[in-house]
Amino acid sequence: MHRVKVRVVEDALDANNTIARANRADFDRHGVTVVNLMSAPGSGKTTLLERALSHWHDGPRVGVLEGDVAGSLDADRLAHHHVPVVQLNTDNGFGGECHLDANMVRSAMDALPLDEIDMLIIENVGNLVCPAEFRVGEDARIMVSSVAEGADKPLKYPLMFRACELVVINKIDLIEHVDFDMDTFLYHLDAVHPGVTSLPVSARTGEGVDAVRSWLAALPDRVRAVA
Ligand code: MG
Ligand code: ZN
Repeated sequence: MHRVKVRVVEDALDANNTIARANRADFDRHGVTVVNLMSAPGSGKTTLLERALSHWHDGPRVGVLEGDVAGSLDADRLAHHHVPVVQLNTDNGFGGECHLDANMVRSAMDALPLDEIDMLIIENVGNLVCPAEFRVGEDARIMVSSVAEGADKPLKYPLMFRACELVVINKIDLIEHVDFDMDTFLYHLDAVHPGVTSLPVSARTGEGVDAVRSWLAALPDRVRAVA
């Protein structure tokens, strides 16, 4: 019985990867570089996007696909910054799933202004576990870990920290108020994902956000160089 269960999970992930490749082909056809943005709930994904995109000058034209279980609170925040944003709710036909998968992103494809953007940032549902298991057709993955969550998170959720190309360490303005040791965090991060780029920021104050902007702006060229 146990073996059958494992097989079902593997088949589901295979099916997801097939749809993710189809998404990827569609994004490529429109010349859109795609970022999957992941974190625990409340780590500051939306605030980081607000900060990064409100002072966005010569970089690629960015749109956002906003994943949430319910509601459009974050999409509404981003729309204030004149960013084209499409809401994707997992309780709307997807059983309130705690992550986005390739099929959900595919369902939003027709609503995305792919001809008007060069980069799509997909803000995933806040969750440190399953979003890391489901490719959605992205070129790169960013995960945000806030200092308030503690320095042990890379050891407790290694797949999430291993699956991304950039780790944003957010809320550094809170460091003196929480028990967070940066060296310990970086030591644990290096243990699970040696050499991964990490950027300390405060999305709230704006400190360090320039480096995230630069990383994003350079991504399309980096992706093309690898392809
Ligand atoms: Mg959010
Ligand atoms: Zn999930």
